[in-house]
Amino acid sequence: MREALPGRVVLPGDRTYDLLRMPFNTRPDPHPSAIIRCFSEEDVCSAVEYAVTADLPVTVRGGGHSAEGWCSITDQVVIDLSGMQHIEIDLENELVHVSGGARWGQVDLATYPWGYAAPGGACTDVGAAGLTMGGGIGPVTRSYGMTIDSLVEARVVTSRDRRVVVADDEHETDLFWALRGGGGGNFGVATRFSYKMYPVRPAALGGILLFSWDDMEALWKAYRDWMQVDSDDHLLINPMVVWMGPNPGCALMTYYNGEPDTGMAVMKEMLGGLTPMTGPLEESLQLTTLPAFTGGGETTAWPGTAQYWRNGFLDNDFPDEAISTVKEWFGRCPMPPNHHNHPAAGTGLAPQWRNDISFAYIESLGGAMGRVPVDDTAFFWRDQKFSFTVIAIFDPSMEQWAEESHAWADGFRAAMEPYMSGGAYANYIQADLPNFGEAYYGDHYERLRGVKATYDPSHTFRFPQDLR
Ligand SMILES: Cc1cc2nc3c(=O)[nH]c(=O)nc-3n(C[C@H](O)[C@H](O)[C@H](O)COP(=O)(O)OP(=O)(O)OC[C@H]3O[C@@H](n4cnc5c(N)ncnc54)[C@H](O)[C@@H]3O)c2cc1C
Repeated sequence: MREALPGRVVLPGDRTYDLLRMPFNTRPDPHPSAIIRCFSEEDVCSAVEYAVTADLPVTVRGGGHSAEGWCSITDQVVIDLSGMQHIEIDLENELVHVSGGARWGQVDLATYPWGYAAPGGACTDVGAAGLTMGGGIGPVTRSYGMTIDSLVEARVVTSRDRRVVVADDEHETDLFWALRGGGGGNFGVATRFSYKMYPVRPAALGGILLFSWDDMEALWKAYRDWMQVDSDDHLLINPMVVWMGPNPGCALMTYYNGEPDTGMAVMKEMLGGLTPMTGPLEESLQLTTLPAFTGGGETTAWPGTAQYWRNGFLDNDFPDEAISTVKEWFGRCPMPPNHHNHPAAGTGLAPQWRNDISFAYIESLGGAMGRVPVDDTAFFWRDQKFSFTVIAIFDPSMEQWAEESHAWADGFRAAMEPYMSGGAYANYIQADLPNFGEAYYGDHYERLRGVKATYDPSHTFRFPQDLR
């Protein structure tokens, strides 16, 4: 392999092997057989050519944020795109071209100075590639749709072709359909995505509002009721249950993609009489920018932690009991031994969300995302409004805590099961999800398997829940 791909192959024992083999989530401890670093489309083509000819199973690494760490798999070859992070703005056509290893935060930073955004995720470090192929949910999803809804072209190196294939509305249309929701790592190596950009305001209302634990049920009910009626598509509100130092609390992650005064009024209406712990809404909610919002939630604070992600879409009319279940199960969260050591604990400073320990939340869907016809893209769950996620976060070296966290995350999801619709978000991939094909892809599962068979006939691209 080293002779065929000089200067790009990292093998066990090499100095950078340990650095490059680990995913963001440190729960798995993968030892791939080789890591092939790519810096151009030509590099990707030669890597795929080599792997197909030698009949080697391949995993692709984009931003490394797979919830199960499936960008790096033991005994497989990793094609690592972290060296391909080029971003190019095309103002004339209002497009942004993003290489297969770029992070979404880079996209936000590149488009924002021009007054534009493409709809991405809420975490800067997540790879554009994985985010896109699973769907992509973030601050402006309700305004402009999912990340896939702005995708106009993808360039992919498939095992069938061993060269770059361009997929768009007119070429390789089945592949283009499948890339929009069929999940990363299935169809080939995506080397570049082109997205439509939308004009965004220079400043918008946004941030994380903290509320007392006593208000949890009232807050989540107010949110649910607001979402069920004629909610404003420009407002994103994600209710969360979080730790504030040693105490449970609740939070609203909120972003208003419109005129700030209107946003304030809409937020007030949604909250009824509820007031954040930090004071009246006018003082607690500030102006921000889209890149600051996605980068400001301390979402990059968890590297080095291990995580269990558990997710499912809630019924659109989930009852009050679901909210009580969230409250009860969050209260049972296993606590790390150092859980009092928050910088703000005992200082009298305003409470802060501590996000290096477990939390649970709902991501608000609907709006523009829900108006895309279900068969236009591979993403099946267009009619869902609430994506519920529990993330158990722990130090991987502490075995007892790992076991407790695992059991807690499983128990929490099981307790919420009666209120779930049966669908789950493919981007919050869960290794032990029964019927994962139907859960991620619904009625699109069989068609997706067909696309996989066409473009990856050698089953070169593999992971435990691939579309084989
Ligand atoms: C901290 C955190 C925050 C998150 N926030 C959000 C959010 O706000 N919104 C949201 O929708 N999702 C979010 N996610 C989920 C995220 O979208 C998925 O985990 C996504 O798959 C990560 O993509 P990646 O490229 O970073 O990961 P990777 O681990 O590199 O890849 C994920 C999958 O895609 C494949 N893949 C990666 N790159 C390519 C490529 N170029 N070509 C082909 N296959 C590829 C991999 O093989 C793997 O199967 C978050 C995840 C984490 C861990």
